[in-house]
Amino acid sequence: MNIFEMAKIPLQKAIETINLDPGAAAIIAVPERTLEVSIPVKMDDGSTKVFTGYRSQHSSILGPAKGGVRYHQNVSLDEVKTLAFWMTCKCAVAGLPYGGGKGGIIVDPSTLSKRELEALTRAYIDKIAPIIGEKRDIPAPDMNTNAQIMGWMMDEYSKITGQFEPGFITGKAICVGGSLGRTAATGRGVVVAALEALKLKNIAPADATCAVQGFGNVGSWTAKLFYDAGVKIVALSDVNGAIYNKDGFNPYEVDAFVQKTGSVVNYPGSEAISNADLLAMEVTVLAPCAMELQITGENADAVKALIVAEGANGPTTPDADEILDKKGIMVIPDILANGGGVTVSYFEWVQNLYRYFWSEEEVIEKQTVMMRTAFKNVYEAAQKYNVDMRVAAYIVALSTLAEAMKIRGMY
Ligand code: NAD
Repeated sequence: MNIFEMAKIPLQKAIETINLDPGAAAIIAVPERTLEVSIPVKMDDGSTKVFTGYRSQHSSILGPAKGGVRYHQNVSLDEVKTLAFWMTCKCAVAGLPYGGGKGGIIVDPSTLSKRELEALTRAYIDKIAPIIGEKRDIPAPDMNTNAQIMGWMMDEYSKITGQFEPGFITGKAICVGGSLGRTAATGRGVVVAALEALKLKNIAPADATCAVQGFGNVGSWTAKLFYDAGVKIVALSDVNGAIYNKDGFNPYEVDAFVQKTGSVVNYPGSEAISNADLLAMEVTVLAPCAMELQITGENADAVKALIVAEGANGPTTPDADEILDKKGIMVIPDILANGGGVTVSYFEWVQNLYRYFWSEEEVIEKQTVMMRTAFKNVYEAAQKYNVDMRVAAYIVALSTLAEAMKIRGMY
């Protein structure tokens, strides 16, 4: 099963549970608009190469489309459309005035020089310019795109419109309108949501333990902020392997080690374990923060955590969901748990529109309030409809979208 088929299963359950109007379901089933573009780039060797790119706007029901642009050789039209749909749901669950969008270029960026990468980026913006903008569709970084690429995109779009356009894109460097608190935001959201779940289970953070799979942006910040909250981090991993210490790690020190060596493996004082061992660890919270399809029908029965907080997108398959649910494990689904990133992207956009910037404390405070509200809404829907938290998150998203569509006269 791929992530696109996976997304449809809880969505369908949510549609049936709330008996969603067939008109509303039909509108949500397809993107509003998808653009395919051909992007010619003059390469360093003098030849011209034509790349294929996409921008899909799944929904503008609640506001402008919002979502990243990924550069990867496996980008496809289907993938871009499905990821745009996920963004619609994630933004609705987070309570943001946004629809969902996603873009991508079929390219392996590691094969390009810096000049070629910049030329490709600028030409992509030239091609999608007619459908984007701060009130239409706001791109952001995704796989293999970063603050430098956002800077080129912002510069190119500003040239096209003839005005300074920081609000057309998020994930920028601070010097061109980026927001403080963005780097840690996704991990912070995972931790805020998991701490709410611990509260429901009457477990104090100091009595909780955690295992984090993946030590990139999301995983490392999840580990650090759990540590700051007093949770003991007993296991960490990356693509090279996993480490364990029953007395707990200081993830800030592990991060310093990773900066030097490139991996968590061989961290002094740690015991080497496998990634499979990490997923099966007896901990209070398991946070899969690496990639999709990690907890499956094959290994879900081995999971012993009380709570699974999904930092990654799509780490748990639907058959694993069923097994975890039967075992009484609470899964905080990706479209809720990792919505902290897009929430702070929203704050970046708001600050850009105002041309007035907030302190990091202000960003953290506002993000925490929004994450707690999103968690509460999803938890209450789970109780009300007697469904798991993933189906409940889709119920929250669909109900919000359906109400707005109804009042707008769309069905
Ligand atoms: P990243 O590239 O910074 O980090 C990924 C980490 O996972 C790395 O440490 C890598 O070594 C590790 N990893 C890869 N394969 C692994 C495996 N099989 N087992 C264990 N570890 C493995 O990526 P990221 O930005 O941290 O994103 C991680 C996940 O979170 C992705 O699913 C992404 O879509 C999702 N996500 C990210 C953000 C964000 O703001 N960065 C927001 C929402 C969702």
